[in-house]
Amino acid sequence: MTPPDGLNIPQGAAPRLMDAFGRHISYLRLSVTDRCDLRCVYCMSEKMRFLPRADLLRLEELERLSSIFIGLGVRKIRLTGGEPLVRRDIGSLIKNLGNHVKSGALDELTLTTNATLLERHAATLAEAGIRRLNISLDTLEQENFSRLTRGGDLTKILRGIEAAKQAGLAIKINMVALKEDNQQEIPSLLRWAHEQNFDLTLIEIMPMGEVAEDRYDQYVPLMTVEDRLRQEFTLIEDPYKSGGPARYYKIAETGGRLGFISPLSQNFCAGCNRVRLTCTGRLYLCLGHDDHLDLRILLREGCRDQEIASHIIEALNRKPQAHDFTIDRAGQAPAQGRHMSATGG
Ligand code: SAM
Ligand code: SF4
Repeated sequence: MTPPDGLNIPQGAAPRLMDAFGRHISYLRLSVTDRCDLRCVYCMSEKMRFLPRADLLRLEELERLSSIFIGLGVRKIRLTGGEPLVRRDIGSLIKNLGNHVKSGALDELTLTTNATLLERHAATLAEAGIRRLNISLDTLEQENFSRLTRGGDLTKILRGIEAAKQAGLAIKINMVALKEDNQQEIPSLLRWAHEQNFDLTLIEIMPMGEVAEDRYDQYVPLMTVEDRLRQEFTLIEDPYKSGGPARYYKIAETGGRLGFISPLSQNFCAGCNRVRLTCTGRLYLCLGHDDHLDLRILLREGCRDQEIASHIIEALNRKPQAHDFTIDRAGQAPAQGRHMSATGG
């Protein structure tokens, strides 16, 4: 991919986005909508107010910004949200961004989804060059699922997962570990995932946005979960890297892979390689901080690609060293006012 014009990058050198701490940014998480057809209790409030559609970046704006990031050395894009598959023109976006994978400009285009609409979209995703998906699933018990998602239908999710499997997509299940709501189910969900050849990654809950429940009651450090799993399974360190923040183990008994994403109990910010672009064009340099660059203004003021690219490079200097998430007492306000669904997981 050619760097945006006038960026003054020596010929032959790969353009690199580097922050003030020497971290190379090669991964863009692109939120395409803040809307969702579920209301997971740890993610959203029940009566979540969504953004007016007019605030969202248009398809061509999303594509243009993606191309600018690719020109600056981004090699991986993850589409997220909200639920990315509820966006009406998502098929075109995926197809067009998929062309960057086919041309070799991107190493990977992928998606995080709740799988409600996967049955309809799985084949299109595979045709566009998507090879693997992250699917969020916190329980395999219908009643619990319906309660945790406030009305979701587990059978629909399982049909979506099956369709993705049939389409040849590799699947990683993401499960947010919740002290009361699903901790007991982790071993059985692990066995289920590995039986189907899916990786499983456990995630610590993060204090993002106000929700009905107290996050202190939901939070369980993954070290505690890991200790319990070790009583039942043999965890063998696995050097595998997915390009994200997880650390991995192989499970001797199942042959499958288990990841841990522990933003609170084992900070991984030193190895951060990502930035996040919201559906309204805000470039957040860190999930846990408010500082952002408004790229929609630049787009709509008529800035050229090179100008936008220069602003991005400059903003990177402000990327914070680390998030400051903590959950250590009841009644604590969220560290970050934005919900996870606004920035994209
Ligand atoms: N709707 C899609 C989904 O659920 O996969 C994509 C967006 S969702 C915000 C991305 C991921 O963030 C999901 O795996 C979800 O479980 C996780 N998530 C949401 N709120 C979270 C929180 N407060 N702490 C940790 N993970 C969270
Ligand atoms: Fe929707 Fe994903 Fe948030 Fe659940 S975690 S409410 S599926 S955006």
